[in-house]
Amino acid sequence: MSNSYAVINPATEQVVTQVELLDVEQTDSAIARSRAAFATWRTVSPGDRARLLRRFAEAVDGDRENLAQLEVTNSGHTIGNARWEAGNVRDVIAYYSGSPERLIGQQIPVADGIDVTFHEPLGVVGAIVPWNFPMPIASWGFAPALAAGNTVVLKPAELTPLTALRLAELALEAGIPEDVFQVLPGAGKVVGQRFVEHPDVAKIVFTGSTEVGRQIMAGCAARIKPVTLELGGKSANIVFADSDLEAAAASAPYAVFDNAGQDCCARSRILVERSAYDRFMELFETAVKAVVVTAPGEENAEMGPLISAAQHARVAAYVPNDDQVAFRGTAPDGPGYWFPPTVLAPTDLTDRVLHEEIFGPVVAVVPFDDEADAVRIANDSDFGLSGSIWTNDVGRALRVSRGVEAGNLSVNSHSSVRYWTPFGGFKSSGLGRELGPDAPFAFTETKNVFISTKS
Ligand code: NAP
Ligand code: MG
Repeated sequence: MSNSYAVINPATEQVVTQVELLDVEQTDSAIARSRAAFATWRTVSPGDRARLLRRFAEAVDGDRENLAQLEVTNSGHTIGNARWEAGNVRDVIAYYSGSPERLIGQQIPVADGIDVTFHEPLGVVGAIVPWNFPMPIASWGFAPALAAGNTVVLKPAELTPLTALRLAELALEAGIPEDVFQVLPGAGKVVGQRFVEHPDVAKIVFTGSTEVGRQIMAGCAARIKPVTLELGGKSANIVFADSDLEAAAASAPYAVFDNAGQDCCARSRILVERSAYDRFMELFETAVKAVVVTAPGEENAEMGPLISAAQHARVAAYVPNDDQVAFRGTAPDGPGYWFPPTVLAPTDLTDRVLHEEIFGPVVAVVPFDDEADAVRIANDSDFGLSGSIWTNDVGRALRVSRGVEAGNLSVNSHSSVRYWTPFGGFKSSGLGRELGPDAPFAFTETKNVFISTKS
């Protein structure tokens, strides 16, 4: 039995379209087609596979504005962000189109023969994607997996299927053979869970919540199925008194309120050296109040609405009253899941606003005493995804970068994810790495072959 899902525009609460959700039987038949397509796709010569991926990247490039508008409508992303996201998909596919001819193995010295290694594709890869960055996160999984010779079945989040469905059409238009890359909208408990359980899905690449990631890892453990997990975060933005405080305060709102805070890398804790705290808060208040929160299709929009009514309720529960609120930015009235940028100043370091991922435009600011205190507070978290360090002391920048338990750190900046550098989390933020030059190898098994030369 299949049913359909009404896609809602989060800025207007209007229904955009209906999308059919797949059931288990439809999922199984898609996996069977993917498995059949793998037999051919893996034999496509490296140069031809590269050329097809380059064409796919060009097709995305030609459709960028359409993809961006779809994301504004489906996800409430600002048009500026959505254009960046579509460009990121193009660049990710183009980058990994350089991989098929470079999946180079080794030749290892041995007696009485030669020994060589091969990077064999796994088969059908199941990608499970969240709603916060539907386009880029999909491509971080499917592009290196396809480049390494796998076929891909991809489950978008129920809330945000539209750009992924369009990407599948563009792949076909570009000449990627039928069934090599399939997008299967459906419920996590149906389609996603089936990927985990199905014996013909050889690997899971999952981005989403730590809670669901834990269930997926357990399901994969039962089948010894490899899994990559990109999970939640509670990243620290550490501001030392010796830094350029104006630059730190001016950039801090965008490091947490971008995408309405629905970003796994959001710097949702700001740790400020005590001697600079008052000055920082003064500058930060001016910067937060200047964030342009408006209809996401407006060219000047810097922040849009939250994704759904449910997400709005979850975020609002962290700010039940004004007790901890230092100050707020603005947000439109009327329809749409709007929440203003909100700055909290908790006094207790065990407060849940400093430990739980809020995934909305809410940031908690706390003072620290010295470098050791800053590192200790930053690491007092189950998560370890990203972080920023503001200081003009290069030795301190390096010491703190090495001391913070997180996968992606940025000094005197809040760098977003770069597709040509590795990305992933420490601790409960994930397992494995995506992106960067090695990503295709995560979609292969290493095979060692010894060939005797004895006569
Ligand atoms: P989620 O609830 O974990 O869902 C993620 C995906 O998993 C969705 O497609 C969901 O389907 C599916 N799913 C749900 N239950 C499943 C199950 N039992 N088996 C298989 N699949 C299942 O996360 P979300 O609410 O969409 O996204 C927010 C979270 O993602 C945040 O915690 C955020 O930090 C994290 N995130 C991490 C990164 C990173 O790279 N580290 C990047 C972005 C987001 P449905 O849509 O049907 O629920
Ligand atoms: Mg969810």
